[in-house]
Amino acid sequence: MADKKRSWQTYLAIAAIWLLIMLVFVAYSARQSINQARDEVRQTGTALHRVLSQRAAQHDAHLTSLNALILSANPPPVDALRQVSRNIIRFYPRISIIDVMLLTREGARVSAQPFLMVDESEHETIAGAFAVQIAGQKPGEVRTYLSDKVGDRYYLGKKSDNSNPGYAIIMAINPALMIEPNERPDWADLSLSIDGKTILQQHSALQNAPSLLKPVVYTQQIDSQNQPLLLTLSRPIVLSEMIDPRRTALLAVVSLLALLVSYSLWQSVRAAKKAEQKAQLLEHETRLAHAARVNSMGELASGIAHELTQPLTALLSQSQAALRLEASGERPDLLKQALTANVREASRAGEILKRMRNYMSNHEPQRKPMDISQSIRDVSELLRTDLAQRNITLLIQTEKNTPAIMGDAVEMEQVLYNLIRNAADSLVQTEKTDKQISVTARSGQGQLVITVSDNGSGIADDVLPRLFEPFFTTRNGGMGLGLALCTTLIERIDGEITAANRPEGGAEFTIALPVAETSSIKV
Ligand code: ADP
Repeated sequence: MADKKRSWQTYLAIAAIWLLIMLVFVAYSARQSINQARDEVRQTGTALHRVLSQRAAQHDAHLTSLNALILSANPPPVDALRQVSRNIIRFYPRISIIDVMLLTREGARVSAQPFLMVDESEHETIAGAFAVQIAGQKPGEVRTYLSDKVGDRYYLGKKSDNSNPGYAIIMAINPALMIEPNERPDWADLSLSIDGKTILQQHSALQNAPSLLKPVVYTQQIDSQNQPLLLTLSRPIVLSEMIDPRRTALLAVVSLLALLVSYSLWQSVRAAKKAEQKAQLLEHETRLAHAARVNSMGELASGIAHELTQPLTALLSQSQAALRLEASGERPDLLKQALTANVREASRAGEILKRMRNYMSNHEPQRKPMDISQSIRDVSELLRTDLAQRNITLLIQTEKNTPAIMGDAVEMEQVLYNLIRNAADSLVQTEKTDKQISVTARSGQGQLVITVSDNGSGIADDVLPRLFEPFFTTRNGGMGLGLALCTTLIERIDGEITAANRPEGGAEFTIALPVAETSSIKV
């Protein structure tokens, strides 16, 4: 459960890192495209500004040359003026009208009559209206006029340098033709205005594309003293430019893969380290368990020596009897009987030694299906003399067909040995006459439960919580490692060991182990 939660947290962390990478990337590329858009707008704006300023200067130049022609004769040479005007209009299509008005002044009143109208003479009225205002200009001065009637033009009015009669030269300019189609950027809104009034507005092809940011704007007054044209370029920052879908998708896939690969690499390195540590720990525990078994054999040595004496004494007396029978040559049946007894006693001694050797063997623990009843019997045999010497009865109650558990037989014997020895040590402290240790093994619900109980004085309340701590002991000369080792060996095979006091007195240790999936035991 905890592992599942941890892996969810890890995946959430990976997703968060991935999102962060994507956000940084999106922010970075948005910044890049904004900078790019700014550069683009500045460069294009500067180029357009230069071109428009040059074109505005050309208007001035045309007006100057027309003025010069007007001054060249009195009255001005109409044909030459018409010719020049037509040429101007032909070569500069943005100049759509050139009118020359004769200004006469009678007292304070100024009247204007058409002197020359080149093209679009329907504008006569507009020209007439401007001519009166132009009459108020200084001689030679040029001014810009806007008409309410024709909103997409602007007019330049110049008053000739002579006066009374003076002339007003009026030039209509179509701002849409001031910029060539190839000079217009299609990615920006372009506008030209005079004194806040827009005379040209062209929309960008991107104007309807979704955008999150304010557009980048370039605005600059055209370099001209008398044509106050304001150029404005406005470039929308479009979402699809800010986030290149292909690059973003590629980065999303690559970064996610990189994160997952690094995570699994990191996990396998960690798993390898863990496995190494586990192997080292297992080795230490195995060595410790072995040392404890060898040590316990020292404690049992006198009992075992005593136990061995019995079959050896029997062997000796039976052999002596056999020799006598052989010498007398009588009763060959008795000779056979003596020899049979010898074989039995020798194998009994051999069994004792085999159990000892087994118990002390230093081997890699092998987890395989095993019969706990057999281990209980082997341990009881090992401890038989020791318990008998201490006047302790060992009762064993196991089911007929105890299910197999997965474990190492020697290590299970060691656990049982420790529990029985502890029970015996506790019983020795009591004055009881019927000292008893009982070992049971019962199965149920996929578990095998083994109990080791005694009718000693039980475990003190302050000792109970610390019982399984390493180096905790109340025994004189005790190491306090027995129960800690039992815990290690039992937990290693997915079991659990607990201790409690019995209501009727004495302690009870319970081991619960999972039953092996296969109940067959390989011997
Ligand atoms: P040691 O035997 O070296 O003391 P253990 O870890 O085997 O170390 O035991 C720790 C302590 O647990 C013992 O010192 C004893 O106080 C207590 N103990 C263990 N088994 C029993 C028992 N059957 N009855 C009473 N106390 C016990």
